[in-house]
Amino acid sequence: MKRRFIVHIDIDAFFAAVEVLLDPSLKSKPLIVGGLPHERGVASTASYEARKYGVHSGMPLRKAYQLCPNGIFIRGNYQIYKTFSEKFFHLLSRYTPDVEEASLDEAYLELTRCRPLYSSFSRTVREIKQEVERKLGLTVSVGAGPSKLLAKLATTKAKPGGFFEIEPDREEEFLRNLGIESLPGIGPKAQVILWMLNIHKIGDLWTLPRATLHSLFGLNGDELYLQSRGIDSRPVTSVSVPKSVSRETTFLEDLWDKRLLLAHLAYLCDRLTLPLRQGGLFAHIIEVKVRYSDFKTEARRRLLLTPLQEMEKIYRIAQDLFLQLFSPSRLSLRLVGVKASGLVRSRPLSLFERYSERQERLGFAVDQVREKYGFGSLLTVREKMLESLYGFEKKRGFILKTASLTK
Ligand SMILES: [Mg+2]
Repeated sequence: MKRRFIVHIDIDAFFAAVEVLLDPSLKSKPLIVGGLPHERGVASTASYEARKYGVHSGMPLRKAYQLCPNGIFIRGNYQIYKTFSEKFFHLLSRYTPDVEEASLDEAYLELTRCRPLYSSFSRTVREIKQEVERKLGLTVSVGAGPSKLLAKLATTKAKPGGFFEIEPDREEEFLRNLGIESLPGIGPKAQVILWMLNIHKIGDLWTLPRATLHSLFGLNGDELYLQSRGIDSRPVTSVSVPKSVSRETTFLEDLWDKRLLLAHLAYLCDRLTLPLRQGGLFAHIIEVKVRYSDFKTEARRRLLLTPLQEMEKIYRIAQDLFLQLFSPSRLSLRLVGVKASGLVRSRPLSLFERYSERQERLGFAVDQVREKYGFGSLLTVREKMLESLYGFEKKRGFILKTASLTK
């Protein structure tokens, strides 16, 4: 098979690095971006100085404060980071049309098609790295290899600030001594099982037959078999992600009952997260819209540094926003809607962030049941309330407007 030329680029400590650029006095300080020490939520980015204290992305802010009380905590500004991100992708698109946006600060480039344009692959990659760093003022780590998986693993080796290329016929050598946890298919559970089998390195995994891995982990086991050998045929897809996903309900009769309205909101969030899960999308912006009985429409939105996909987390934010808009003494509502935008394909996962893995699997299981038996076959407690009032199948009493993906 023809060798592919794939580059993975990741901006180092992105949010923290932008903050330093905006305020150079923060340079070389332990920075934690995501919120203030006693706020709810997690650290989105920790500077390398803060990481020395054990702080990492995905860690609750309180915990980060315990570990690093002298750290500088910053709430961060999605809008500013988004501007840098757009510039980043614009620069990359000048080298190849095959650019995949993995997240705000992470990209895959495939140079296979335009390889003839460049005399040396390594030199081109170095050029890209230098240009991005010069124009953005931010350091990036770059990995190169014959697949997305290998390019990404190479980046891990290049961090921070370096460039690492897996050369032809060196793949095996590269993979052999990496810890199994570096493979994306290995969650904490699988890791423990494999450790018990005395399998710690990717090279150890090669001793297990495919059938054994399959019996241990099912289809994930087959995936693992391929991953451990560096086999990954996923294309670099430049197809842009949808701009937003939204769901809204127009009531036949205006509603004022707060509990009922919140139940509707939960229902809408539930519907909203289905296309997110199906598309592997995470949202940086959650917006709630209401229309009052006097037809006035208002909306509130929240910008999130750590993008979300989970229904429960999205609902909690939507509820906060809704309560800012809704006052029982005022007017009743004709419409309520929720929108997810600022969509990205993946959330940078650290090992510790995988706690959401269970929730993710639950989401997929729920989708499967509903696909087979209908949406009403599985309802959350909040939605149950709607069922007794309206009955889901009949959809009596309210019109469900299921807006689709907007480009
Ligand atoms: Mg990064």
